[in-house]
Amino acid sequence: MNRLAAAGFTLLLALAACGRGPASVDEARILGADGEPGNWLTHGRTYSEQRFSPLDQINTENVGQLGLAWSYEMRAPRGAEATPIVVDGVMYVTSAWSIVYALDAATGEELWVYDPEVPHERGASACCDVGNRGVAVWNGRVYVGTLDGRLIAIDARDGSKAWEVVTVDQSRPYTITGAPRAARGLVFIGNGGAEFGVRGYVSAYDAETGALRWRFYTTPNPQGPDNAASDAVRGQALATWNPNAGAWLQSGGGGTAWDALVFDSETDTLWIGVGNGAPWNREIRSPSIEGRNNDNLFLSSVVGVDPDTGAYKCHYQETPGETWDYTATQPIMLATLPIEGRERRVLMHAPKNGFFYVIDRDDCGLISAGSIATQTWARGVDMATGRPIENPEARFISGTAIVLPSPFGAHNWHPMSMSPQTGLVYIPVQEMAQDYTADSAFVYRPGRWNTGTAHAPLPGDRATQQAVRNSMQGFLLAWDPVRQREAWRVELGSPWNGGTLATAGGLVFQGTLDGRFRAYDARTGAQLWQFDNQAATMAGPVSYSVDGQQYVASLASYGTLFFLPVGFGIADPPTEPVNARVNVFRIGGAASLPERTLVRLETPEPPSITASAGAIARGAAIYSQFCSVCHGAGAISGGVLPDLRRAPSLQDAGVWRDTVHGARAANGMPDFTQWVSDAEAEALRAYVAREARTLYAEERAR
Ligand code: CA
Repeated sequence: MNRLAAAGFTLLLALAACGRGPASVDEARILGADGEPGNWLTHGRTYSEQRFSPLDQINTENVGQLGLAWSYEMRAPRGAEATPIVVDGVMYVTSAWSIVYALDAATGEELWVYDPEVPHERGASACCDVGNRGVAVWNGRVYVGTLDGRLIAIDARDGSKAWEVVTVDQSRPYTITGAPRAARGLVFIGNGGAEFGVRGYVSAYDAETGALRWRFYTTPNPQGPDNAASDAVRGQALATWNPNAGAWLQSGGGGTAWDALVFDSETDTLWIGVGNGAPWNREIRSPSIEGRNNDNLFLSSVVGVDPDTGAYKCHYQETPGETWDYTATQPIMLATLPIEGRERRVLMHAPKNGFFYVIDRDDCGLISAGSIATQTWARGVDMATGRPIENPEARFISGTAIVLPSPFGAHNWHPMSMSPQTGLVYIPVQEMAQDYTADSAFVYRPGRWNTGTAHAPLPGDRATQQAVRNSMQGFLLAWDPVRQREAWRVELGSPWNGGTLATAGGLVFQGTLDGRFRAYDARTGAQLWQFDNQAATMAGPVSYSVDGQQYVASLASYGTLFFLPVGFGIADPPTEPVNARVNVFRIGGAASLPERTLVRLETPEPPSITASAGAIARGAAIYSQFCSVCHGAGAISGGVLPDLRRAPSLQDAGVWRDTVHGARAANGMPDFTQWVSDAEAEALRAYVAREARTLYAEERAR
């Protein structure tokens, strides 16, 4: 018998033994996930989403011998954010543009690829690049939420589509980047888009038929009921908004649930992490009225609902009256912890706002809140009221406030993990400041970036740029959630590092922005191993086993949010797109990655444009308002989207103006006709040409 036939025979035996088809996952099986540690059945491995692997073949003693087993090149560059799901030797994973891949988990052999063919103009509605954080697997099917707002069920055997439903109003700037979750025969999915102006909600679909079973809106409808599960708390939520004024009446208020959706079988709850307000600036979103609560429920809250019906159970609002883009969408982890001598059913949460919350899963009561990063918006949390003790100046009612954390968050979507061996939670943390200024000239621009804040353009001089870049720091934090205190940390220099995985081998795995994939001693933080993944390693790693061999998988790619607005100071960005990869490791693995090739583009000689200093300043302000979120602050691209200083269109006023006015809309470049006049487009060109001349001179001086 040859190897392939032998493998097939083994698979048949395994199927016969279990009496189930491929990807035959159900609630009972996920609840029993600890009995089959070789699989990674759901987003955080188990429903508690602790991202702890019970496998210990790879451990602190032998991790130095860890090597690459195989690498698979996906069909898209840009941010790879997915957590792979591994069931019975098959890995299901996604890349940017919501493309799904089924791979042989032992060899990396491609079994099938499903491309939902998301129209690329949808990229213009994605605040934070076109990534996807993975699939759910349930009863022989693989479920993916697509960037253009569809939920698709795919046959796990051959990658054919079983059904698809549109979960959003596609005429509005909704996106889906989060992974669905499955339980109770339902598939749960949220959405994103609050920066542009949408109203958030979570939907539950019948896994077999795709029929909508319930929907819970995270902000109230000021017009009346929605005929949705959230109607029962509409009055309670509406009492915390200005019912008569504010941009929320147009935008829907935000509150998009774009990541954490955690099924809790012990308390019979679906936990929803709710996003920031639309616009960010509360006084523009929902102007305060003397004597009236303006907390804006359920923004920046953890909300518990009944998983079968969507009926509201309880909530805890982490950032009342959110005004800094402080989402509470970050991964939620369930556990039972000893608190003051008593076992408590808790959820743990490290949202953007810099606190680490331990919350009672039975009633949403706050148990404790610790500070995991420098924060200037609040001095702490008042345990009597459960509310933050705010620094009033941080609200930027007038003037500019420099605040930590920034909209990137002290912690973002990059998953944290927990080890029952150490009792510690391993969190990718970052410290970056943000200048917030109320946008006094705010007008609501449907479909476009609507935050109600203005930012000073990045100064053009390199020393200042470097100082700004150096002020952005990141670290891996080991946190004791019971005592709310630090156990150890590893300084990483840059922010935006990867999610973590804890294992029974006493290890913590994490990737970094600069492409290192590392293993640390879970007790001490000592670095025990690293590999050059060649590209930013941001997703949550997973571990699994096939035929008794333990593997660790990580995704490497170039892209995601950090690479769009913060181009400056990212060293040697590749100028040719490099497709994302799945890199998988085992003890003694001897494979290697292809040689990395960096292609450095030359900047063409910039055009001479006669423009006044005032016009260039106007161009810089327009750039900062409309362009910098994608093409990079200071006209310096992070390499994901075109660097405008090198754009051929810069040479020609007509081509430039047409591009600003929608000529490349099909490629994802928005049409700014309504917002940028011909004269302003030319002022913008003069500003970018000035920055291009600086770059051109630097290149010639090399
Ligand atoms: Ca946001």
